[in-house]
Amino acid sequence: MERFTRRYFMGSDIFRGSVYGAGHPLNIARVWPVIDICFELGWLSDSMYRHVEPATAAQLAMFHTSDYISALIDAEHDQSLDAARMERHRIGKDNNPIFPQIYARPATAAHASMIGAEMLAQGQADIVYNPAGGTHHGMPDRANGFCFVNDPALAIAVLLEAGIDKIAYIDIDAHHPDGVEAHFSDDERIRLFSVHEENRWPRTGAQGDIAGGFAENFTLPRGAGDAELIKICTEYILPSLDSFQPQVIILQAGCDGLADDPQSGLCYSNLGYWQAVSALLSRNIPALVLGGGGYNPYTTARAWAGIWGLICGHEPGSILLPPAAEHILRCLEWQHRRGRTPPEHWFVRLGDVRSNEAAGT
Ligand SMILES: [Zn+2]
Repeated sequence: MERFTRRYFMGSDIFRGSVYGAGHPLNIARVWPVIDICFELGWLSDSMYRHVEPATAAQLAMFHTSDYISALIDAEHDQSLDAARMERHRIGKDNNPIFPQIYARPATAAHASMIGAEMLAQGQADIVYNPAGGTHHGMPDRANGFCFVNDPALAIAVLLEAGIDKIAYIDIDAHHPDGVEAHFSDDERIRLFSVHEENRWPRTGAQGDIAGGFAENFTLPRGAGDAELIKICTEYILPSLDSFQPQVIILQAGCDGLADDPQSGLCYSNLGYWQAVSALLSRNIPALVLGGGGYNPYTTARAWAGIWGLICGHEPGSILLPPAAEHILRCLEWQHRRGRTPPEHWFVRLGDVRSNEAAGT
């Protein structure tokens, strides 16, 4: 992917400290290990790295209601919220906890996607990577599925406002992007593609469902691996992409479909996941690449560092980690039972064993 010569990596130190609280699946380090590993591998320089500040309330109002944004700001300030607003906006409910940076952290991730979208719309970048983004469940007036702010939806709104009228949104997270689909699937300027696990929360996006008319949903059964993911991306999504000819692609690259992730029954290896990402970015179309789900800190850091490697033209599957990068992974904490006896390859190399090979042995 050497053609992406003008590439930018969006980040902020806010992703180092803030946490969702004990016992929450997102109470893990997710973004800063990706940044630090990419620097240690020599894949990231200060000229490519953009430090981002939180979006303002007015900017978030491009998708969210002002009442909801005010509730997030008040919840951050007071670290509590009145019962009526908690109920209405699902803040402090449904595993969407009130935490110290409940406004600033998602507003920063959203701003990164909005700035990236603007850079792509203005022709200032070929590709922008925001691993803190991809919070695709957020609704205009409420939190949903650990997502307080819907940064992909805000990026789409920015692109539309800038006059981009052919946008492809592609989502390979294990969960269906209900928040994005609910608001854009009837807009002929946009094509929405999602491949996700069937019968998994939020249980929208059934196989073949076109929602408002411009969505294409593909579901995979529990246990599906690399071959199934790659087949959908190359035999179904790419031909649709080729006929639509988008000006910009937004790729939500949630990695919770990886076999080592506890939040889905999908069994991709990161080799297959990177192959899918590589195929979807193979058409030389300006792209905003986002994170998303990812609930095993070791797996998530390796998967998302590998995406940046791909963007820079490297082959992440063959990368052995230098001691400083290995040290970053060994210092991560994970309370989940799957983290009690971590396999050695979680620390010493980026690539997994390919899932369909593993299944055959
Ligand atoms: Zn997910």
